Formats: sequence, structure tokens, C-alpha cells
Amino acid sequence: MSEQLTADATSDVNRTATSAVRREKRGSKWNYRPDLPLQVSPMFQWPVRPLAIFSWIWKSWFPVSERLIIVGLAAISWFYLHPALEDCRDLAFGWIAQIWARNLGLMFLVAGGLHLYFFVFRKQGDVRRYDARALKTDNNSFTFKNQVLDNMFWSCASGVTIWSAYEVLMMWGMANGYVPTLAWSESPVWFVLLFLLVPLWESFYFYWVHRFLHWPPLYRIAHALHHRNTNVGPWSGMSMHPIEHVLYLGTVLIHWVVAAHPLHIIYHLQYFTLTAATTHTGFEGLVVKDKNRLSLGTFHHQMHHRYFECNYGGLEMPWDKWFGSFHDGTSEAHERLRGRRRRALGEA
Ligand SMILES: [Zn+2]
Ligand SMILES: [Zn+2]
Repeated sequence: MSEQLTADATSDVNRTATSAVRREKRGSKWNYRPDLPLQVSPMFQWPVRPLAIFSWIWKSWFPVSERLIIVGLAAISWFYLHPALEDCRDLAFGWIAQIWARNLGLMFLVAGGLHLYFFVFRKQGDVRRYDARALKTDNNSFTFKNQVLDNMFWSCASGVTIWSAYEVLMMWGMANGYVPTLAWSESPVWFVLLFLLVPLWESFYFYWVHRFLHWPPLYRIAHALHHRNTNVGPWSGMSMHPIEHVLYLGTVLIHWVVAAHPLHIIYHLQYFTLTAATTHTGFEGLVVKDKNRLSLGTFHHQMHHRYFECNYGGLEMPWDKWFGSFHDGTSEAHERLRGRRRRALGEA
């Protein structure tokens, strides 16, 4: 694609975003909105409220959460579906293929399973679905002219491959003693704490990488691919350009400095890849007997896909609040976003 065409595509996206922001009055275009305003973690609020912090952490893990499920999947992966660390000393086709195939299976299990449940069998209809518009078919902006096939292709061909490449690099590094390792017996407390810290770290890391990806040259080359999805489904989460996959999953390189067990490495990568699928489900959660039993899609990121220039991060660390890009879902926040866009476009 020529540069001019790419630039046109980007300004198209900007025009679409601007008209979406303008058109919308008091969020009337949403099929469902959660309780508003959206709340960020009390961890960074003053004065300190220990009970609120405890309750926030508890609810994000128990009684059942995507985080807990991913710890389980990481444990199954490590104990049953992973090459022995000593086999990872030399790069060889067998164990690398094993990691790639397992990760592909996990991607299909999580993104594919959610897609079947919510979009093919429509088990929940449009209950707690943020944006009820159908995922796009016969649309030229997507690879294969089809949003789901486009999303599956980029998630698997690029996403699973780069995810596996990082895992291979880390396992190879650990097997050869280049990456510091941590054993349960050395420090059980730190061993457990590392699982709790990954979501916090993700909120920090994702915000900054994502902000960088919105830098216009990088947006045009890479991030525009993810933003083809103005409405999202589970396969949209990891549908990214390879450059974005390299940056996003580069998170795990922190363990060249912070000692970890292979289980933490597997969990860290699965947390980034599999929660990308769950947070893009497009539904607030799995409703059973009129109650949300498992939180999935996040409204703040759903808004990012529709409005583009807000909510770059998550809710664990309030970076968007600190830098003025937080959209809490209310009409007041929407007016502020409209004002920012008008100023950015040089309008009065
Ligand atoms: Zn973005
Ligand atoms: Zn997204």
C-alpha cells in the first residue's frame, strides 16, 4: 500500500472517530453500559482506604476470575504440556513446535470458545453486550473482507508465533542460566506475590506501549490494524500487527532482571495474550441466572475502540486519569473528549 493510501486510511479512521464522538449523545448508542462512572483502583487514591483496596483485589481474583483461570491454565501448561527445562538448552524444532502448538490450542480454547458461546451460538443474546452491531462481513478494511477471519489470522499467524518466540527465548535463557530463576523454596511469599503483581505491571506497561502505538507514524504502520475493529469480539484482542505483538509481548523481558520461575513466565505471557481475548469479548461477562458470574469485556477499552483517543490503559493504575484521557462513560466525560477533539482539529 502506498504511503498516501495509508495516510488516507488513517485520516478516514480519524474522521470516523470524530463523527462517532460527535454523533453520540449521552451514550445513547450503547446497547448496554455498566454502572457509571467507571471506577479506577483505589490503590492510588488519597487518603488510603485499606478496606477498599482489599475488596478491589479480592473481587478481581475471587471467587472466580479470568486471572485465576489463567493461573490454572499456566499450571496445566507447565506441568503437563511443556518441555522439561533442561531440554530447552539447545534450540530444537521439537520443543519449540510443542510450545507453539500448545499456545495455538490455548488461543482457540479461550478466544474460539468465547466466540462460539457469544457470537455463533449466541447463548446470551445481547444481554450485557456493549455494542450490539454485528461483526463485519464483506468489508474491504479487513483481511479476507471478514472481521472474524481477519482477527483469527492476525491472532494466530502473528500473535501466537511471537508469543511462542518470547516463551522460547525465556526458556532457553533460563535453561542456560542467562535469565535469573526463582524457586518456590527460596521465597514462597515472593513466588505468590509475583502472580499478583503481573496485572499491576500490565496496567503500567500496556498504557505506555499503547500510547507509543498511537504516535501517528507507528499508528499508521502498525496499530491501525488493531483499530480496524470499531466493535470487538474475542478474536479482536490479539489481532495486531507483528510490530505491535513484538512491543506488547516484550513485557516478559522484565524477567531478564526480575527473577521468576518458568511458571511465572508462562503465566505472564498467557495473562497478556489470553486476557486480550477476554477483555475484547464485547460482553461485560458471563451471565448465569441473571448474575454476572465471570467478568470479561471491559467497557473502558470498548470505548477506546469506538472513540480512539481515550482510555489507553486499564483501571489498575489510573494513568488515563493522570494524563487527562480517562473516559468514565458519563456524558460529562464525553463532553470533555469532544472538547479535546475540537481543539486537536483546530476548531473553535
Ligand atoms: Zn489504540
Ligand atoms: Zn483493543
